[in-house]
Amino acid sequence: MTAICPGSFDPITSGHVDIIKRASLLFERVVVGVAKHPPKKPLFSAKDRLRFVEAVVSGQKGLRAEIFDSLLIEFAQKHDARIIVRGLRAISDFEHEFQMAQLNRKLSLQIETVFIMASPEYGYLSSSAVKEIAEFGGCIENMVPSVVEEALRKMYSK
Ligand code: ADP
Repeated sequence: MTAICPGSFDPITSGHVDIIKRASLLFERVVVGVAKHPPKKPLFSAKDRLRFVEAVVSGQKGLRAEIFDSLLIEFAQKHDARIIVRGLRAISDFEHEFQMAQLNRKLSLQIETVFIMASPEYGYLSSSAVKEIAEFGGCIENMVPSVVEEALRKMYSK
């Protein structure tokens, strides 16, 4: 069975990595979908965001990443996937995720959204928090893959 892990991944954090790896234990194939045009203007280009995700998934069996620029449902259909996996941190994630899952269900009854609860050590972690810490020179070690840590350091040392 194929599952899609969609997101803006701007940039990918250790919390995302945790969800992707746990999804890969549940499903034979997991395609990480990097949204080309997320609602909030991203800091990193889609190409960079994909490169960071690829650094994490490359060589991992059943895992791959791809940019998508369409309805999520269409991206899932393209991969013959019937599962969308999303991570849930706090209650604050719930409202948005609930709405998205219901909208996607309205678009296709064949595709189910399933949720994986954040691991306690990553429940506080978000891409925006990481960017804010990096902008002010704080330490983001272990919060993001090393390729992202380096890219953020480079970006904010300019
Ligand atoms: P989007 O912009 O579509 O919300 P994100 O890249 O911010 O995409 O997140 C993708 C998915 O990963 C979402 O389901 C989000 O709730 C989840 N997620 C983000 N950070 C974490 C974390 N620290 N732990 C678990 N899940 C997370």
